[in-house]
Amino acid sequence: MIVVMRNGATEAQIKDVCSMIESCGLEVHLSQGKERTIIGLVGDTRKVQEDRVKSYAGVNEILRVVKPYKLANRVFQPEDTVIEVDGVKIGGNNFTLMAGPCAIESREQLFRAAEEVKKSGAKVLRGSAYKPRTSPYSFQGLGEEGLKLLAEAKQKFGLVVETEVMDTRQVDLVAKYVDIVRVGTRNMQNFDLLKEVGKLNKPVILKRGMSATIKEWLMAAEYIMSEGNKEVILCERGIRTFETETRNSLDMCSIPMIKQLSHLPIIVDPSHSTGKRELVKPMSLASLAAGAHGLIIEVHPCPQEALCDGNQSLTPEMFEDIMVMIRKMAPLMDMVL
Ligand code: PEP
Ligand code: MN
Repeated sequence: MIVVMRNGATEAQIKDVCSMIESCGLEVHLSQGKERTIIGLVGDTRKVQEDRVKSYAGVNEILRVVKPYKLANRVFQPEDTVIEVDGVKIGGNNFTLMAGPCAIESREQLFRAAEEVKKSGAKVLRGSAYKPRTSPYSFQGLGEEGLKLLAEAKQKFGLVVETEVMDTRQVDLVAKYVDIVRVGTRNMQNFDLLKEVGKLNKPVILKRGMSATIKEWLMAAEYIMSEGNKEVILCERGIRTFETETRNSLDMCSIPMIKQLSHLPIIVDPSHSTGKRELVKPMSLASLAAGAHGLIIEVHPCPQEALCDGNQSLTPEMFEDIMVMIRKMAPLMDMVL
């Protein structure tokens, strides 16, 4: 249920309504926009009588939210969520570039990647220390040593850093070293993990499950938000279809669809979506044109030597080449780099 206040409703009137709702044992989600104030009710709304709410001064109307996700719902919060980390903004009219290697392999590899992507305009350095590999015999990541290298790279290059967290037991350790944690596609419905990252005071990149519907994805975001963490960045990374030429099928429709349904930022991963480096540029530009709030791209100083996902990793030169176009296109989309 949401309560829409009249234009010009006073602070005292808003406070009265909120107190009444809280006294019924519900949580209040307040969205104070330029135009109007919206009070979202979270919890068992049967405990609140609609007529009673309507009788409060300043109340304009009461709407029922039919979708199962509330906190992530655009109806609850009409304005875009803009997340800020160390001065880097994600969401709204910001187009944020995140780039770096698939896996952190060594100091030299990570630092070379960091230097290059920073030079081209990336604001966030990506890199995994824990790798969810299909085969247990493949490189599994450097673990905490990798996290330490990320923290060093943050200091040295002045980049915001992000990494994947795969397990509830790693959450505190990972959060100690990075600015943004990422939940990968395979864990999108690991509800215990979602609840744990929901307790963090750091943004979470939530990748779309490879077979998840948009509704399931938003419900996963709701899990994180319902624990208190409202800083969720959705990431479209392609879904499984019958197609085998590409690694996944990039669902471009999800970008405008998510923006209609939710106020959360949505970024695109054109690397895992395609699995082919030559497809990364067209999909990056298409994502910007479709309204995405940013990209997360795999860049390796020497892709042919990569321990993971070399086929889809860009050389720094290829990344710069994409950035040349992004710099031209972003203003046309009213986006700020
Ligand atoms: C990644 O971004 O490193 C990754 C493993 O991606 P995904 O979870 O989308 O497969
Ligand atoms: Mn990868």
